Amino acid sequence: MTTLDLRSLRVRSGEQFRDEQSIELEPFELGGQRYLPVPHEVEGDLTVAQATTGLDLRLAFDVRLHGPCVRCLADAVQDVHIDAREYQANEPGDAEELRSEYVVDDQLELSAWARDAIALALPDQILHAPDCAGLCPVCGKDLNIEPHTHTEETIDSRWSALGELRDRL
Ligand SMILES: [Zn+2]
Ligand SMILES: [Zn+2]
Repeated sequence: MTTLDLRSLRVRSGEQFRDEQSIELEPFELGGQRYLPVPHEVEGDLTVAQATTGLDLRLAFDVRLHGPCVRCLADAVQDVHIDAREYQANEPGDAEELRSEYVVDDQLELSAWARDAIALALPDQILHAPDCAGLCPVCGKDLNIEPHTHTEETIDSRWSALGELRDRL
């Protein structure tokens, strides 16, 4: 986990610090599937500005996630662009909105911030292609490779059920 000691930056009021920061990223769980950030260490563009009332924090980076398509389980990649902001007041008191959850004892928790920012930027479903046909719910074959339906068989089984019913009457 990557953290940055904000005190060591010595940013004075009205000044700002801007630099590339290497940030370690952890694998993601989404919908029970595992997604790997590539690269697992990103170069984040971090800006720390000391305003009169508090710190303005900004983090930007690009990352690509590799993992299974939720519909057909083929390899999928998802590109994510992050541009996140946080604010930490000098005297936050008890006000939650004046406090960044990623600033703990003057340490900026970059990995945790990056992880949550990626989670917010992800789509609901990661697909290998926007029009992925998925797996057949009847036989489990990949409908992208073998497009097919089971309409006739479904009808057949309905007819046979009807037939059985008729026999009993
Ligand atoms: Zn797919
Ligand atoms: Zn099928």
